[in-house]
Amino acid sequence: MKPMRRNVLSSITMSLDRQAKELAASGRDVINLTAGQVDLPVPQTAKDAVLAALEADRTGYVPAAGSADVIRAVRNGMGWTEGSVLISAGAKPLLSAAIACIAGPGDEVLLPTPCYTSYPEMIRLADAVPVFIEGDPENRFAIPREALENAVTVRTKALLFNNPVNPTGTVYRREELREIADFCIKHDLWLIADEVYGTFVYDEPFVSLYELSDVRDRLILVNSASKAFAMAGLRLGYAVVPDAAASAIAGYLSHMLGCPCSLSERAAIAALEGDAGYRSRLRETFRARRDALYPLIAAIPSLKVEESAGAFYLWLDIRGTGADDAAFCRGLLEREGVALTPGSAFLRSGFVRLAYAQPEPVLKAAAERIKRYFAEAAADQTPLSIKCE
Ligand code: PLP
Repeated sequence: MKPMRRNVLSSITMSLDRQAKELAASGRDVINLTAGQVDLPVPQTAKDAVLAALEADRTGYVPAAGSADVIRAVRNGMGWTEGSVLISAGAKPLLSAAIACIAGPGDEVLLPTPCYTSYPEMIRLADAVPVFIEGDPENRFAIPREALENAVTVRTKALLFNNPVNPTGTVYRREELREIADFCIKHDLWLIADEVYGTFVYDEPFVSLYELSDVRDRLILVNSASKAFAMAGLRLGYAVVPDAAASAIAGYLSHMLGCPCSLSERAAIAALEGDAGYRSRLRETFRARRDALYPLIAAIPSLKVEESAGAFYLWLDIRGTGADDAAFCRGLLEREGVALTPGSAFLRSGFVRLAYAQPEPVLKAAAERIKRYFAEAAADQTPLSIKCE
């Protein structure tokens, strides 16, 4: 048997989520704060639209990059006046397709870290090379401009940029986005931007890169209904790309995926057009959760954390404990039944990610258990990493 050419590791966050669910299914009382998934129902209008579409037998193929009425609804809903709008089965295939159309063997893609687990693999699947740029821990893990400049070579094709950031919850400010855009313009790079958490920005209005009109001719801007409308399993994403890039990406998607799901298209139209208040209600729910949880976590000694400005993650700095992040998470799950994700899954060890996509009482109970985990380790004078083995 000839060996497989690729050994693609599956997403660590997904397997941790599965592990926590299995433990819960075996009867353990588990609080699962691993999954980056909204825990609330999709808008009622979207549910109705799926059922009506099914009844009407709308189950055939649709155009590879989306039906005209979905494209129109996305354009209006997102305020994307210029460029081509593409629809696919979530943000992931749009990001992968864009990377594969832009970068090939030996090409380099700049990737700020810590980052979403799938990004390095998406780049490698295109046979391109991720060039990691370490975010500055003293400045919300934002990318230092100097580090970007130092990383550019003749092989650099693109910057893969996420805002708000999974896993840190960082939200980039307008002047920082301006710098990123100027950097890409100066070096003639594509700017592939993932704004799937754009709805979840709590302290200031969200600034999309789309607002910087002079970068639009090199901007591949991806978003999706997964977070904004709690539709993760329905798989419906959208992107706005320069007209010149649209046919390559749409062609790639047509061969790889065929088309988006016909029922999910109906759900997306209903969600985007049907319930104007849904997204702001979602934002307020998550803001309240953050406000309830953050002070409890911040009060735990030997742990450092910043209030997250966006997405729905707290990024816990456990370097002071001397614990290995994976061992820390394993120990916390085994002893206290709380599942968090080790920072190494996002290319930054010494940290862990807590997803606050659960009701407030559950988050409060989780904070209590995490506090106890630390307190017991301190009482035993055992380093958490040893205690967890
Ligand atoms: N981008 C980021 C930063 C994410 O965190 C996620 C999911 O967690 C995705 C993309 C996936 O989005 P979708 O479900 O639309 O493919």
